[in-house]
Amino acid sequence: MMPGTITERHTAEAITPVAIRDLTGAERTVALYVSDMPNGRRNHANEQVRAWIVQGAERLGMEELRRRAEYFRGWRLLDMHGLATAQIQARHEQRFPKANRLIWADKTAAGNISREGMTEATRLRNGAAAVDGDCPCHGTGGIPVQTPFPDGSLMMLCPVHRRAEIDAHHRARRAGH
Ligand SMILES: [Zn+2]
Repeated sequence: MMPGTITERHTAEAITPVAIRDLTGAERTVALYVSDMPNGRRNHANEQVRAWIVQGAERLGMEELRRRAEYFRGWRLLDMHGLATAQIQARHEQRFPKANRLIWADKTAAGNISREGMTEATRLRNGAAAVDGDCPCHGTGGIPVQTPFPDGSLMMLCPVHRRAEIDAHHRARRAGH
């Protein structure tokens, strides 16, 4: 199957009603992206947004929705730090060829989350991320960063594969440790 193409599934999975509160932020974004939501920056009534999220989720099926959502999160975490490689960037653009639509789907999904929230179980996997391609950490969790100092490079924690440690560090800092 080509990434980014919409496939209709006729399996039992597609018949299960989609509960919006069971979808992470990234899953709602991807569902909106593949739905019939029109292009363009426009606010829509929440009932309409709900219908598009369900439509997109049913089009992809939960397994594919989850997979694309994790790749989207992984790409964003790397991109935020300027670490997305050409391969990772190319696969992301193949999956989401319309950059503006993706941004707007993401904003619309964020609006939906602030209205409806998510279940506790969903919140626990909300940050799930994966890299489609060779991560710049090469599976080691550490990415060498050049410094202006003559004595060489530093290692930074991979924002995808060392996420748990980075989050724990931020939590400890907020708690004042
Ligand atoms: Zn990594």
